[in-house]
Formats: sequence, structure tokens, C-alpha cells
Amino acid sequence: MHFGMTSTKWGSRLNWRDGLLACMLRAVAWCVAFNALFMAAAVAQDRPTDVLRLELEEAKARVTTLSASTGLISEEHRKTLAEARERLTLLQERNNMLLTREDRGGFVVYATNSQVAQEYVRMAEHYVSVYRQLFTDFKFTQRNPVHFIVYPTKEQYLKYEQIPQWAGGHALTRRIVMMRIGYSDKGYTIEADPRYKMLRLALYYHPDYSARSATLGHEVAHILVWEMLNKNDKEFNVVNGNRFLNEGVADYVGTYNMAQAQNERLSILNKTPQPIGPFTWLDTPHYPATPNQISEYYAEAHLFVRWLATADTKGGARLKVLLPSRDFNDFKKRLEEFERNEPLYKINLDNYAPYRKKVLSTVPR
Ligand SMILES: [Zn+2]
Repeated sequence: MHFGMTSTKWGSRLNWRDGLLACMLRAVAWCVAFNALFMAAAVAQDRPTDVLRLELEEAKARVTTLSASTGLISEEHRKTLAEARERLTLLQERNNMLLTREDRGGFVVYATNSQVAQEYVRMAEHYVSVYRQLFTDFKFTQRNPVHFIVYPTKEQYLKYEQIPQWAGGHALTRRIVMMRIGYSDKGYTIEADPRYKMLRLALYYHPDYSARSATLGHEVAHILVWEMLNKNDKEFNVVNGNRFLNEGVADYVGTYNMAQAQNERLSILNKTPQPIGPFTWLDTPHYPATPNQISEYYAEAHLFVRWLATADTKGGARLKVLLPSRDFNDFKKRLEEFERNEPLYKINLDNYAPYRKKVLSTVPR
């Protein structure tokens, strides 16, 4: 008999089967134990380990809840359920596309292939080091993992992130939107999810390397500013810093060592006959309304932060004190406080205008 013949080799047929069963049971037991440990760790930290799966599970739960309704079902409910099902299908489709996951140095990247994922992790790590050249005492603790979803194209980004085609920036879902506006045609969204103490960034693979890099660097800098200003783990999403200075730091870091990108950014200031200037922008609580003013705002923020950062060797320490400024008055108070502690590192705000003129004279019109 076939089994009989092999049984001499493997022991009796019964033992062979028992052995296999025991082995399988052990494997299952290990699996259960491992999973339990894993789950316990995840629950203890209250943090998602995989944002794609989390979002899919949420969409599934929503469909289940909506489907459970009995009795008279309104037209509106039917429509909501249909939308929830459509969302679930979209997320399934998306997750099947983003098969690669790269988890390194506090960044988790989801992409279509490992080459793209690794490029983004490398870029993120590069910008952490650029940031740390400016803020030398800052340590990226990685306490809040940063999840990057990299869509292969702009179309897919708009489709799966449910962003209308015309979007410059509108709030999404229930998550708190931290920053939305950047290079307007290089779309991305960044959100902080207080439930999981998680930062989520969605963007798409721009065909131009410097655009990809500057966009990612800009957002990584926002994340690091946020990490630097929110030391207390209990207060997730509290201090965002002064919007104007925050954008300036992000842009300065994002275009670090990229002369062409910097010139592109700054050239708008050469085309603005009556600039609004940093002191008024520091007092402006929201982003400007028109595309031209938005470009001016970012360019001025970039140049003003560059001036503050490079005035002397205390640039980063100075910026760190100034970043949370509520308005121009608060900014001046913080600057005075900084200079009381560092009397050898005084700057004069009147010197910004000549600095600005000198830099802009080197920028192509
Ligand atoms: Zn920004």
C-alpha cells in the first residue's frame, strides 16, 4: 500500500498524522499567542499599524451598521448606504493597488512598488536631517508614526482621496485637517488623527523629481514643526505654530539646496510691486484668498524664514522661540525674550528689507 510504504520512513501512519496535527496545533497556538501579543501591543499603544487596513475596516463597519437598519428605510438612508458601499469598493480597489509597505525611521510608506516606497522613505529621512541642521537640538522621537500614501498618479489621488478636481483645499472626513495648501498643482493632504495619534499624508508620484522632493520635504517639515511644538503626548494636535512662519520653515526646508525651486518660489516677489510684507502676514490668521496672494505669501514666508534662520548661528534656536507667535505683537515679544537670553545674537527687523532686496536682485524675474 502506498501509505504503508512511506510509513516505514515516517513512522506509522497514525503517528505521522498525529505528528502533523500536533505540529499544526502548535503552529496555531503560536499564531494565536503571537496575535494576542500583537493585538495587546496595538491596543496598549492605541495606534494603527496599517492605515490602509484601518480605513478599509472602518468602511466595512459603516456598511454593516447602515445595512443593519430595519423597518421603514428612507430614500436618504438608501443613498447613504449606496455611498458607503461605493466607498468600500473604492478602498478595496485602492488597497489591492498599493501592495508595498515600507516602514522605517518613523515613516510608513504605502506605494505600488518597493522602488517608489523606498524613494519616499529616503526622501523623508533626508528632510529629517535637513531639519535637524536648522533645529540642532531637535530629536525626531517617532512617537507618532507618519503614514504616507503615495498614489501613482494625480487622477488616482483625486479619486481615492475623494477630492474634487477643482480642490485647492477643503476639509475631508472627520479628521482634523492640519495643512492643506502647498504647491497647489502638486496635490497632497495631510491630516492628524487624534484617535490614533497618527499623522497621515496622502500624495501622488509627481513625474518631476524636484517637485516630488520639495512637496514631500515641505510636508515632512510641517510634521517636524508640529512634533517639535507639541512635546506633550496628551495634547495631540494643539499647537500648529504661526501659519506664516510654519509655511516659511516648510518651504525653506523643502527646497533646501534646490536653487531652481527656490528661485521659482521667490520670483513672484519680483513681480509684486506693492508687497504686503512679513509683519502684516504675521498678523493674518488665515491664508490669503487669491492665487497670486497665496504665491506671494509663500514666497515672503520662505525668504523671511531664510533671513531669520541664516542671520547667525542661533537661527534655529531663534525660530523655535518665534514659531508659536500668535501675531506680530507676540512675535516681537518672543524676539525680545530670545534676545534677553542670547544678548550676542540680536537681529534688527529693519534689516530684513535690505536683505530681501539683495536676495531678490539675484533671482531671475
Ligand atoms: Zn505648507
